[in-house]
Amino acid sequence: MIRQKIVAGNWKMNGSKESINALVNGLLEMKGSNSEVVIAPSFPYLSLVNELVAASDFSLAAQNVSGEVKGAYTGEVSASMLGDFDVKYVLLGHSERRTLYNETDDVVAAKVATALNAELAPILCIGETLEEREANQTFSVCERQIQAVISKVGIEAFAKIVIAYEPIWAIGTGLSASAEQAQEVHQSIRAFLAKSSEVVSQKVQILYGGSVKASTSKALFEMPDVDGALVGGASLDAKEFIAIVKAAG
Ligand code: PEP
Repeated sequence: MIRQKIVAGNWKMNGSKESINALVNGLLEMKGSNSEVVIAPSFPYLSLVNELVAASDFSLAAQNVSGEVKGAYTGEVSASMLGDFDVKYVLLGHSERRTLYNETDDVVAAKVATALNAELAPILCIGETLEEREANQTFSVCERQIQAVISKVGIEAFAKIVIAYEPIWAIGTGLSASAEQAQEVHQSIRAFLAKSSEVVSQKVQILYGGSVKASTSKALFEMPDVDGALVGGASLDAKEFIAIVKAAG
């Protein structure tokens, strides 16, 4: 099955009004692409970026969402609020959220459910630590993280979920998984989904994330089960990000 590639930029907690204007202007130099380009600024800049990219094909993502629908949750942002700013995707289960903010598999699953109810498409991040990889637990960790979401929203919901395999040892370290390592895990993720639904498993786009650069992206994108990339650091450099999008075709 042909799956459209997605190249998503996670800007994390970076940027200012000025730098974001410059970054988006740089990105708008991009020529048409067959891939879907997604950018994920911090909450305060969603409105600004939404306006700046209005005439482009870029999609907007948020970096987090509340698992609650509305009410007395000071400091939280609801899925319906994101919808007001044309946000299409939301990153969920990013390892920084799991480790620094104690988001458990159940918390992530609840957020996935809330996002889907508000018609936001989750980009569900999963991945193992170095210790887990060395203990041959890569597949079981990824399966556990996915199973928590299947148990909450059902396998059919995965037709609307994008998975990002992000080995924690590769995030922000400059140490990307090789294309073969990524393919091996992506294939196992698809095989795991296929146990519940072959049709859904073939549809789901599985992105790789972890120190993706223009120079390494081509080999990754040639792998049959790598359907794009979630890019952190390199997405803050317009030229580098555009080169990654180009590599995706
Ligand atoms: C990320 O934070 O999702 C990520 C992949 O970061 P980096 O590309 O900087 O490793």
